[in-house]
Amino acid sequence: MELVGLKIWVGGIVQGVGFRPFVYSQATRLQLTGWVRNTSSGVEIEINGNPTQVEEFMKALSNNPPPLARIDSIESQACPVNGYLSFDIIASQPNPGDFLPISPDMTICEDCQRELFDPSDRRYRYPFINCTNCGPRFTIIQDIPYDRPKTTMSAFKMCANCEREYQDPLDRRFHAQPTACPECGPQLWFEANGQRLAEKEAALATARDWLKRGKILAIKGLGGYHLACDATNTGAVAELRIRKRRNDKAFALMTFDLSSVERECFLSPLEREALLSRPRPIVLLERRPGSMVAAEVAPNQHTLGFMLAYTPLHLLLMEPAPGFPEILVMTSGNQSEEPIAYQDEDARQRLVGLADGFLMHNRPIFMRVDDSVVRVMHNKLYYLRRSRGYAPDPIHLKKEVPSILAAGAELKNTFCLTRQNYAFLSHHIGDLENFETLQSYEEGIAHFERLFRIHPEAIACDLHPNYLSTRYAQNRAEQEHLNVYAIQHHHAHLAACLADNNWVSAEPVIGLSFDGTGLGSDNAIWGGEVLLGNYKSYQRIYHLAYVPLPGGDAAVHKPARMALAHLWQAGLDWEIDLPPVEALCADERTALRTQLEHRLNAPDTSSMGRFFDAASALLGVREKANYEGQAAIELEAAASPDELSAYEFGIENDIIDPGPLWVSMLHDWRAGLPLPVLSARFHNSLVNLVVQLCQTIRQQQGIDTVALSGGVWQNRYLYERSVKGLQKDGFKVLVHRRTPPNDGCIALGQALVAATTMVG
Ligand code: ZN
Ligand code: ZN
Ligand code: FE
Repeated sequence: MELVGLKIWVGGIVQGVGFRPFVYSQATRLQLTGWVRNTSSGVEIEINGNPTQVEEFMKALSNNPPPLARIDSIESQACPVNGYLSFDIIASQPNPGDFLPISPDMTICEDCQRELFDPSDRRYRYPFINCTNCGPRFTIIQDIPYDRPKTTMSAFKMCANCEREYQDPLDRRFHAQPTACPECGPQLWFEANGQRLAEKEAALATARDWLKRGKILAIKGLGGYHLACDATNTGAVAELRIRKRRNDKAFALMTFDLSSVERECFLSPLEREALLSRPRPIVLLERRPGSMVAAEVAPNQHTLGFMLAYTPLHLLLMEPAPGFPEILVMTSGNQSEEPIAYQDEDARQRLVGLADGFLMHNRPIFMRVDDSVVRVMHNKLYYLRRSRGYAPDPIHLKKEVPSILAAGAELKNTFCLTRQNYAFLSHHIGDLENFETLQSYEEGIAHFERLFRIHPEAIACDLHPNYLSTRYAQNRAEQEHLNVYAIQHHHAHLAACLADNNWVSAEPVIGLSFDGTGLGSDNAIWGGEVLLGNYKSYQRIYHLAYVPLPGGDAAVHKPARMALAHLWQAGLDWEIDLPPVEALCADERTALRTQLEHRLNAPDTSSMGRFFDAASALLGVREKANYEGQAAIELEAAASPDELSAYEFGIENDIIDPGPLWVSMLHDWRAGLPLPVLSARFHNSLVNLVVQLCQTIRQQQGIDTVALSGGVWQNRYLYERSVKGLQKDGFKVLVHRRTPPNDGCIALGQALVAATTMVG
């Protein structure tokens, strides 16, 4: 039979995932000759063979790729038969300018986990075991193409056994760039007070012993350091909280496997699936009554954030044994708002007052990456933080866009770089409020631009001139003579939700952008916004009535003052028995009244987040907050699921007036109704409002698609009832699926608004 020649180009995540060995085994099985190689834009293949077998090869490529591969494109073209004698894997071919997506870090696979606990395996109990299907990727890659010399594993010379596996196309460690073994790879040690106390297996044993005795350890993981302690030891958890300083935020928890989670929390099938999924995110779960976890882990919340051990080191550390804690706190290794520590020397310096001891290793982390956080809401997975295990997977766009750098917002910052159909939304950077976070932001941007070979043609940022991200954007634009697009925060929310849903129509949708803060086009601080818009533009149809925001951004920590500002705006008295009145001394109240009357450092705000804070303080749930959203989270936790009544808002023109709601709520409070009922009625009022406003807009404009974006939509009570209410009424509801609803999505929205404006 006549032989044919074919050249094939495969794009997507096809490097570092065992793709070439897969090609090799398929080609040899079908007696094809030729070669395969990595390029900087994917994988290139040339084959010679008979036409039926060439066809079968093409089928295998698209139908059965290796588990971690994600193919975006396969192109092929006939070529001359070159008379190859065998099929070979040949050297990589870098091509300046080309790019391809990079795999996120991957949880240990089943094969490696089996070897890890197999006494006859040469990698038995080796904490850095990995293969082409698992192990570190994004956190160790310094440049592309993805080969060992361009990773932080370059310093480790493979031993003869590892080298043999690495070179054998039929071995599952063929070209596994981070491959290592106890002979040649990274090692563990344990140190305290600047002294190395133990190495390797003994280091692990010491760490376990210290944890068992209630100590707090810094543990170097995949994307940075964690702080760990026994989650059932109240003293240890309380001590950790003191050392991390002024922070009531919940600590994440880790277990060896599902069984301990099952005992502590209620688990739906979807939540179980999320816990076991390859990215191994932190999953927020409903806590069971009688759970063993110390109350200080998540003060005043009814949820716990669990993740399963995701690296071989974590598995060894948490291996079940009598007397050893089944559940460890595994919170980010930092003090309050700083970025997570990931470099050893930096960790020693910054964590010395926080940790009693350090479990360390010598595999360097190049990119720090925090754990991801998800929650199942309305029977779907919802990202609250998209980071380890997901980033840097691109968001695929339906339309090609110019190359844009979008700088993102201030809090929960991520940035975004676009190229063709890809939006590379970064891992979670954090709150851009200090030098360390800004530095890791700038390094992150430089790294993404290098990895994905992106030279921005334009820059997008927030309308707020004083965000550090905006200043960075302005500086870069000036230096590189690029246009800057300053995009209104809540428009960016709407656009992000559209992009997340692959929305291509120019038809406007109703955007319910409910969040804490974002600068408006009138210089007020927006946050309770009902918009009508598309990628390109928006109209503000309704918004929460303006109230003075006493002290500006500082109001985030003072729900009591926010409550009094709301009452003042509504013309209601500060009666002495009201919880927020009681919470402030007479002098403070006098000063606040002067501040409100004379508008001293009290800008207008329509913030939905602060509206929740006010309600929380008014009902005596929380008068002072240690982090943004705390008052609202605790108010939600109090809501009774069975209460159906609600209060009314006043609506006049485009203004949503909460005055009538406050009057009814205070009436109920004075009548002595219990908190769960009051909280539920407050939430139900917003659900009704949402449906009512959307109905009015539909009547007037004929629009029946609604997009929900903004941090307030992390409120499960509000979210689930609003989605149900809108769907029942025939609305198509767009919610965030691939990106978080909070400010972690802003950069994506900014990029899309800028792109649409540029293209015209
Ligand atoms: Zn593996
Ligand atoms: Zn080795
Ligand atoms: Fe926002």
